[in-house]
Amino acid sequence: MASDTDCDIPRQIIDFMNEYMTQQSIQIIDFMNEYMTQQSIQIIDFMNEYMTQQSIHIKNEKEGRKNRSKAFKGLVDFGEDVATYVYPNSIGSASKGGCAFDNFTLDETCKIISAREVKTCCQIQPKECNKCKNKVPYYQPLCIICKNDTFTLIKDSRFSISAKPHFDYIGIIEEYLFIYIYDEDGKINIKGFVIKSDNPYFNKYIRNQYENSKSPTCNLLPDSYDFQSSGPKLIFYFNYNQSGDLLSHYIDIHNDKSMDFNTQCLYINEKIKYGIHDEVSIPYEEIQDKLELRDKPFNKDRGKTSRIKK
Ligand SMILES: [Zn+2]
Repeated sequence: MASDTDCDIPRQIIDFMNEYMTQQSIQIIDFMNEYMTQQSIQIIDFMNEYMTQQSIHIKNEKEGRKNRSKAFKGLVDFGEDVATYVYPNSIGSASKGGCAFDNFTLDETCKIISAREVKTCCQIQPKECNKCKNKVPYYQPLCIICKNDTFTLIKDSRFSISAKPHFDYIGIIEEYLFIYIYDEDGKINIKGFVIKSDNPYFNKYIRNQYENSKSPTCNLLPDSYDFQSSGPKLIFYFNYNQSGDLLSHYIDIHNDKSMDFNTQCLYINEKIKYGIHDEVSIPYEEIQDKLELRDKPFNKDRGKTSRIKK
């Protein structure tokens, strides 16, 4: 039969170990918080600097001296820079095009152990003059050619995904980083999403393009059915005014939860098929296994094309 003393010894050890582990976990949490705070600060600093540059370009467009689009050019570079902040142990490709990965991580023997594709889409793009139909820089208030001041905004920019490399390197490319820039009420929004390359819908979508279309490129529209069905995870969001002042932001680089599915992208027959009633959005996990590819009219044979006469 154990004495009181025999019982006290293990209890003291347990108390000591509990205290020790509590201290350790506090230190680990403190370290992680500090690390993530530093990473967030670096991303905010980078974005602020980028938007300071863009605010100068926006001002130049507003003055419209030579009818030149200035703001939000060089987006490939911007996206690849952002990726190096989102994935701190990664490096970018020094290549100015070609077949290198956009962003990748090496092991100690310089072997690539993981890679990411970075895609940007900016819908702050030249607008069309309603009178003479010429293209006009987005922030330019007047058409220099005909002096008209009414325009049709064009928002057809999309994310371009090359289908063949996706399947050739699916074991290495872990995820896609999508950066979406758009205007809303005169404010500039920059959003970052991650889509895992093994997402089942995302793969069905790219495979359909790969096997059934002459074009090797998927043109993925932000907020579309195909985009939402691929389970995008929002990892950052920035809102700026045109002077480059940061108005609000959100950062969660390690967010592993897909955005809720916005049912407004569904047709009526799809709502019936997926059992959607009045819900504006539903958790992605509740619909992801039901989502089917839409019938897409691929023009396998484009037939004759003719040049537009001027
Ligand atoms: Zn005009």
